[in-house]
Amino acid sequence: MSKNLSRIAKQKKIKYFLISFVDLFGVLRSKLVPARAIGEMQKNGAGFAGFATWLDMTPADSDMFAIPDPDSLIILPWKREVGWLASDLWMDGKPVDASPRIMLKKQIQKLSKRNLKMKSGVECEYFLLSDDGKSISDPKDIQSKPCYDQSALMRRYELIKEICDCMIELGWNPYQNDHEDANGQFEMNWDYSDSLITADRHTFFKFMVKSLAEKHELRATFMPKPFENLTGNGCHAHISLWDGKSNKFLEKGDRLGLSKLAYNFLGGIIKNATSLAAFFNPTINSYRRINAPPTKSGASWSPSSISYTGNNRTHMIRVPDPGRFELRLMDGSSNPYLLQAGVMAAGLDGINNKTDPGEPLFCNMYTDHKNYPNLERLPNELEESLENLENSKVLREAFGEKVISSYIKLKKQEIESFDTEERFDKRSLITSWEKNNSLDC
Ligand SMILES: [Mg+2]
Repeated sequence: MSKNLSRIAKQKKIKYFLISFVDLFGVLRSKLVPARAIGEMQKNGAGFAGFATWLDMTPADSDMFAIPDPDSLIILPWKREVGWLASDLWMDGKPVDASPRIMLKKQIQKLSKRNLKMKSGVECEYFLLSDDGKSISDPKDIQSKPCYDQSALMRRYELIKEICDCMIELGWNPYQNDHEDANGQFEMNWDYSDSLITADRHTFFKFMVKSLAEKHELRATFMPKPFENLTGNGCHAHISLWDGKSNKFLEKGDRLGLSKLAYNFLGGIIKNATSLAAFFNPTINSYRRINAPPTKSGASWSPSSISYTGNNRTHMIRVPDPGRFELRLMDGSSNPYLLQAGVMAAGLDGINNKTDPGEPLFCNMYTDHKNYPNLERLPNELEESLENLENSKVLREAFGEKVISSYIKLKKQEIESFDTEERFDKRSLITSWEKNNSLDC
């Protein structure tokens, strides 16, 4: 055993551990375990009834066990007697295929067979709402172009500073915080890292922001589109592949600074984008953000068509600097592990098939899209993405038939629940079903 959690508990004065996992819908679940029991839990895991979570199990199934990864330990900076642990799910002595962290680890393994590691950084946008979740929390935040508004940012200084201080303490190397393009919207950036570390941190970040916002009597939401006329919450990811210390996406002589490997990987993302949307835009509300009309600020900042470009934010993929690309498709409701796993599976498909992404387009896609009538559009609603996923040989092979069928089955149940109350129409008001079911995504 690499790290003995019992011993660490004594050294660091940890009284309780949160043994956590996320299910297929990205819901963070855990058991609070006293330090006296952590030795046993580290070996055998904490027990959960799978049916009680979004994992497509039955009440008759055996217990599943969340076995914590000691390398993921994070001591809550705002409650230092509690240690948070990401876990992998096991059942009947075998890993649970539908455990998102295990789904990601399988893709990491496939990539490592090529001596490659994916590094990524995520940009998690969120809104700060009033405690009841009904409106943005700052009544003075009313500019039509509020991006980078210094006064609105500083009115939330106490909370933003607290979150940023936590990230400094945790060694994430945060480097900037800002007010984003919607009233009430913020973004905080920390360093990119190995994909599994980023996925664990992304999961913890959402928990931390929500917890600290509550402490300040506010409510944080990562919901893709909480307000019709405002820019939604994206979760853009910056991607590169590495062999040890060498960035394999970097090619200095290329006009975008990308290697052949990077173009193939990017080609895989482009080819599989309409089915990846089922992972990256997993909620009914997600489809108000992509393929959407401009917002009050003048732009939605989210993609509509499947294209790539240089340093230009109107496309699905932007290459801001040599050696990496930014994928702008994902929103705040995407599951942190499926986000990384989906990128990797599609990218690997691109590498395996030497997929050509076509030529980059150097245009303003928001105004010039009519000049590109053959460009594929992103799905218009969740049902369409699920159909694409159902027909995706690539993703079915990458994650296994059973996992994909489970995902589609559970998501279709969600659509059924919505349909009994509402009808989805991007042009009409956001429904209370969406708010009730996505505010805490
Ligand atoms: Mg942003």
